[in-house]
Amino acid sequence: MTGAVAPDLLRELEARGAILSGHFRLSSGRHSNRFVQKFRILEDPPLVERVAAALASAARPLAPTVVVSAAVGGIVLGYETARQLGTLGIFVEKENGVPALRRGFALGPDDRAFVVEDVVTTGSSIHEVIDVVRARGAEVAGVGIIVQRAPADFGVPASALLDLPIESYDPEHCPQCAAGEPVTEPGSRYLGAK
Ligand SMILES: [Zn+2]
Repeated sequence: MTGAVAPDLLRELEARGAILSGHFRLSSGRHSNRFVQKFRILEDPPLVERVAAALASAARPLAPTVVVSAAVGGIVLGYETARQLGTLGIFVEKENGVPALRRGFALGPDDRAFVVEDVVTTGSSIHEVIDVVRARGAEVAGVGIIVQRAPADFGVPASALLDLPIESYDPEHCPQCAAGEPVTEPGSRYLGAK
């Protein structure tokens, strides 16, 4: 994993509310002092342009022929990364609950796919995209991630712009609960956060 733009990027994402500090109840029920709201990145075209430039730099030595992402947030990031690489940008979405390439997106044995994702927690979304790419006979050239929240091995070259491991606690052992700090329940206004 590389982190060339990490220090500046962390400050910028915090300033834009993409990375929140506080006392949050995660969907798992555990408590954490940080929360990532990826749409504060994806709603901001100049910021998407910057992070995509860093991902494209990591991708170029891998000679990708296409950028593949996962709907919905990944469409924005994949589009801009592909634009900068001069490749097509396509995306995987669910079809009857199963990840698939729809809309006539073509991918075949001559393709080298660069897979991009905004925020990675478990890595399951990237693994789904990788499986779809390989099922078409294409090669996965590499993976590019904006914010990585847990270690993950995809078996291909991978770059994360920002390594931000999740620190979370069982509520009974949460230091912020012990300090009496009120917990924030991320609701619909944080939709899309991980
Ligand atoms: Zn707590």
